[in-house]
Amino acid sequence: MSNGPYGQIACRCGAVTLLVCGSPLGRGQDAGDEPVTFWPLEAIQVGGGADELDISPDGRGGNAWGCRRCDECLLNAHDEAGVAVLAGDLEETDDLSMALTLSQRLCLEELGYRVVAGE
Ligand SMILES: [Zn+2]
Repeated sequence: MSNGPYGQIACRCGAVTLLVCGSPLGRGQDAGDEPVTFWPLEAIQVGGGADELDISPDGRGGNAWGCRRCDECLLNAHDEAGVAVLAGDLEETDDLSMALTLSQRLCLEELGYRVVAGE
């Protein structure tokens, strides 16, 4: 369970924790229709388990951040777009403004994500 609105995400075994700060850029779906949220890459910090954090190319121009122990992928980072993609939908989306720039959006769509536009 998360601490605070967008506090912390942890892998299944708990070895790796990431801190998520700031506000999401938007939401959408990945190529498999699973809900995802888009965050500025600089909003993500390693909270713990840096030694277990495995950053490896995901084969689509980004890097998958996962745990070496349980193999769970916590997020996909896309340096070119400057966007981190987290699995799962937002629970509190009161003031979600579409903060993605057009180039970020095009980048994400090229990667196979569907961006759900906010109003
Ligand atoms: Zn783990």
